[in-house]
Amino acid sequence: MVTDSSRSEAERSLESSSVQSTPDATLPGVFRSYFDALLAAYGPQHWWPGRTRFEIIVGAILTQNTSWANVERAIRNLRAARLLSPAAIRSAPSAKLALLLRPSGYFRQKTKTLKSFVKFLHDAHGGSLTRLFASPRQVLRDQLLSLRGIGPETADSILLYAGKHPVFVVDAYSRRILERHGLSLPRAHYEELRALFQASLPSDHQLFNEFHALIVHVGKNYCRPSNPRCSECSLSRFLPQSTLPST
Ligand code: SF4
Repeated sequence: MVTDSSRSEAERSLESSSVQSTPDATLPGVFRSYFDALLAAYGPQHWWPGRTRFEIIVGAILTQNTSWANVERAIRNLRAARLLSPAAIRSAPSAKLALLLRPSGYFRQKTKTLKSFVKFLHDAHGGSLTRLFASPRQVLRDQLLSLRGIGPETADSILLYAGKHPVFVVDAYSRRILERHGLSLPRAHYEELRALFQASLPSDHQLFNEFHALIVHVGKNYCRPSNPRCSECSLSRFLPQSTLPST
């Protein structure tokens, strides 16, 4: 459960943010209504795809700037080479790792990020994911963000999906939906949007897990960058007429 202090942090952040001008988003039940509509329409999404916590972490790192199909190809390569463990990644030569990660794109950068993560895991937590995720949430989040190649979306995906910490993952899909529904302003900062979700919903990692996955489903299938399919989308009932997206 989130502590009072961390919830207050989210609420304090919201008070001074660029989403402040859309107070309806923070009314109890607004985001819950979105979630209920999405879940009723599309059902559980069974995220995150991954057999182990470490595989989820690897996926969260590799999915930056590429499709999930490409991530799966790289993960299959790692599995075939028996490299899907922190210790195996740590001892693998970078050149070999890069070759295996090639299908995921930006493979040299992602090799360095994976190496950086497993070194941190070894040095700070003796290689134990259980010890890693037992860290205080904000401390761990700051540590992850200090690692090479790990930004807020990746850090929060790791915390939520591998660590079961109640941290909302903001992505391009959630940003687009909020903007089109008049719930946030264009170019709102990542932290502002994360605070908006967290201040508007119960602090429940399963809820955040499913909500984010459903948002991705809507973003991929309905709320596309151009020509959104509003008439077929389960969120169309919430779309203010004044903010109908242009096609
Ligand atoms: S109703 Fe339209 S704008 Fe809203 S989420 Fe669906 S596709 Fe996007």
